[in-house]
Amino acid sequence: MNAEEWVNFSLTTPPPQSEAVRSPCMALRIPRVLLLSAYDRVPRREIRFSRRNIYLRDANTCQYCGRVFREEELNLDHVVPRDMGGKTNWENIVTACVRCNSRKANRLPEQAGMTLRRVPAKPKWRLVVASSLSPAEMEAWKEFLEVTPAGQLPWRH
Ligand SMILES: [Zn+2]
Repeated sequence: MNAEEWVNFSLTTPPPQSEAVRSPCMALRIPRVLLLSAYDRVPRREIRFSRRNIYLRDANTCQYCGRVFREEELNLDHVVPRDMGGKTNWENIVTACVRCNSRKANRLPEQAGMTLRRVPAKPKWRLVVASSLSPAEMEAWKEFLEVTPAGQLPWRH
């Protein structure tokens, strides 16, 4: 959709309160996802370091047992425990299920006889905005978001 089509869409499909920018003559819908057709002038945005984004990076998969869980069944684990000097950053925080998390406790993975599925790193997402969408909103945008590389949008479990 180009800008003109978007204006027409806004006029013919009145937006919910929270999704509109209002001017005296019209209410323009706020797009939930903007697909950029040219990247060269877009400043690089930092991905917010948050619980949600770590779950997203790890695709809701426990990094120890490799199983997929619902968010409420997951914890964040410091690979190197805090009291051993482990930092709270992309490289030291992984998604762990409650069971693996308590089994590992305050130890290094090797001390607990556990292995990480992969080395944690800061994600290289381009479509940062997608991380703020709820699963229902993701569903609505699915066909637009399928264009991103596989494995980066973990909502299809
Ligand atoms: Zn686990």
